Amino acid sequence: MSVSESTYFDVVIVGGGHNGLVASCYLAKAGLSVAILEKNDSLGGATVSQKVFPEYEARLSRYSYLVSLLPDQIINDLGLEFKTIERDVSSFTPEKIDDKDLGLLINRGLTGKTSEDFKALTGNDAELEAWKSFYADVQKLADAIAPTMLQKLPTRSALKEKVGHKIWDEIIENPLEQVLEERFNSDLVRGIVLTDGLIGTFSDGKNLAANICFLYHLIGNGTGDWKVPVGGMGALVAELVESAKKLGVTFFLDSEVNSISSSSSNSNGGENFITTASGQSYESKYVLANFAPQKLAKVLNTQPPKSLEGSQVKVNMLLTKLPRLKSGADPKLAFAGTFHFDERYSDFQRAYSQAAAGKIPGVIPAEMYCHTLSDTSILGADLVTKGFQTLTLFGMHTPANLFENDNSGTKAIILERLLNQLNQYLIDPIETCLAKNSDGSLCIEIKSPLDLEEEIGLPRGNIFHKDLSMPFREDGSEPSWGVETDLPNLFLCGAGAIRGGGVSGIPGHNAAAAVLEARGL
Ligand SMILES: Cc1cc2nc3c(=O)[nH]c(=O)nc-3n(C[C@H](O)[C@H](O)[C@H](O)COP(=O)(O)OP(=O)(O)OC[C@H]3O[C@@H](n4cnc5c(N)ncnc54)[C@H](O)[C@@H]3O)c2cc1C
Repeated sequence: MSVSESTYFDVVIVGGGHNGLVASCYLAKAGLSVAILEKNDSLGGATVSQKVFPEYEARLSRYSYLVSLLPDQIINDLGLEFKTIERDVSSFTPEKIDDKDLGLLINRGLTGKTSEDFKALTGNDAELEAWKSFYADVQKLADAIAPTMLQKLPTRSALKEKVGHKIWDEIIENPLEQVLEERFNSDLVRGIVLTDGLIGTFSDGKNLAANICFLYHLIGNGTGDWKVPVGGMGALVAELVESAKKLGVTFFLDSEVNSISSSSSNSNGGENFITTASGQSYESKYVLANFAPQKLAKVLNTQPPKSLEGSQVKVNMLLTKLPRLKSGADPKLAFAGTFHFDERYSDFQRAYSQAAAGKIPGVIPAEMYCHTLSDTSILGADLVTKGFQTLTLFGMHTPANLFENDNSGTKAIILERLLNQLNQYLIDPIETCLAKNSDGSLCIEIKSPLDLEEEIGLPRGNIFHKDLSMPFREDGSEPSWGVETDLPNLFLCGAGAIRGGGVSGIPGHNAAAAVLEARGL
């Protein structure tokens, strides 16, 4: 194709993240011609597996790592051979009380060790009972909301009526801290619950942003279970790419879109002109934006939406063995679910106020998880035999602006702080468990919000592209798929749509549905 020649497709999708791929499959299946223009030389965006440490055959989920929000319906509709594994251990949290090393293991059944640990850490059974009752109520939200995620947005009042319980007010209307403080007494337990409200969201418990983030962490597929992707996150993208190719989707890699303009009277019946940085041009009836709304605004030359900045660091590690814990907990249990450390309610409050004042938190709340305890298929056979493991860590309340003046220096400070905090709970310091490269360096990397912007285009490192939105529309507003923009033939199909955010395919599905509806299909 010559540079000046413009090529027509029914739909051009800007960005080849998993949501763009999902949208492309639905649209191609319905008989439309579809092209994906991807800035990078590979597909997947934040949903990829990569050989992070080139000397080792270990394909880590470099950015996103667990799956909850991806509806089974999408997997079935698209015939994907993508499998996930449920985890028996939900979380483990080490804690020191009176100089004694203890830990809170929360398993799915909330029995045995879980009830013993609750008692040992909180003094009685009340906190476990509060936990059971709270999450049983949250389940009512999941039951009502999950079935609506691939439909047009319900109205606020219709959804509220469907939930029909005070949990609506507790999670949707009032600040999250209110329900946490009313229902729980323990600083540790309140902190574990609050975590789901703060992952990827720079907030405290007073801001409704935390409520929305909490909601999305608890409603996936109607269970809120976070499952391990077999083969890592890249396995999902590999399946989607194969499916899209079979359906005839055309891919253009190294194609950074830098302008989109609309006209009602150009050739081929197209209404959008899309051009790339390298000078290629395309025409289409519809454009789907898989990249972030802030990036779309730049390309359209409009005002970008306001959004919180990304506020987490992601640390990827390859280990020769798992560290032993001072509490005596079995590392194979402790690291199988989410391993929280220094995520007490008070830790979050302190860290938030320090970070909001422009300082690196003195204690950085963090959590980790080990993929290889559930699925060794991401490792070469040799590494499996030798017992290698992977760990992924999220450090919270480390917003983009902290890295502005010195990205690598700030990352070094934060990494050292995180490892020191973690080592307080370990017999074997984590550094002694990390694999080494041939030059003696340790197999560990840290990604700041600025790195996420640079590498995969997340504005200010916001892992959800922009602030999440409640999964409903206000009463009296126009019916909507949650993907519409000011331009009639341009829809969001990425995390920045309403009900986007996370590895879900939901905005991809819903943008495709909006196009098909507009076509009368
Ligand atoms: C470190 C990290 C950990 C996370 N952990 C989890 C997790 O465990 N579970 C979970 O559910 N979610 C997680 N998330 C969030 C989740 O990964 C994202 O919300 C989701 O992957 C977004 O998918 P998407 O397809 O909408 O967009 P993206 O994956 O962001 O894809 C957008 C694509 O657009 C491309 N692009 C950008 N600009 C242009 C342009 N101008 N022209 C052409 N192409 C362009 C990008 O290169 C990219 O490929 C995590 C995110 C991060 C960063």
